[in-house]
Amino acid sequence: MTWRAPSYAKVSVTNSPVLSIDLSVEVVGSGWQTCAMTEQRAFDFSGYQEAAARTGGLVATDHPIVYPTLGLVNEAGEVAGKVKKIFRDRAGVITDADREALTLELGDVLWYLSELSTRLGIRLEDVAKRNLAKLADRASRGVLQGDGDHR
Ligand SMILES: [Mg+2]
Repeated sequence: MTWRAPSYAKVSVTNSPVLSIDLSVEVVGSGWQTCAMTEQRAFDFSGYQEAAARTGGLVATDHPIVYPTLGLVNEAGEVAGKVKKIFRDRAGVITDADREALTLELGDVLWYLSELSTRLGIRLEDVAKRNLAKLADRASRGVLQGDGDHR
């Protein structure tokens, strides 16, 4: 008997902890046949989604800091994606084109950082100065490495 790869599958999920999978496969020379598999699971994504929904709710996003915060994280992710590809595609060799692309993405990060600071009433210059002062203090105490925001 020869089997081909399944080209049709139906998955049904109920509120029970049982996940039922109906899988149709073609048996060469015999037409379509259906075999049903039922898999017992103590946990599934449907149950997870329902449980997660009970712990969350709508959060108003009409505050002025929401957009630049999301933009900052998004652009940081774009930087990470470009760095990932440098290693995935070129074994860590950074080209001029990579530097150009990263310059633009880092600029996007800087723009959202500036915008978030503005909307929080914080001067970007103070962010930079406080960061350098924090690092200098940590260096003087020998705690540059390690964990904790306030070490
Ligand atoms: Mg960008």
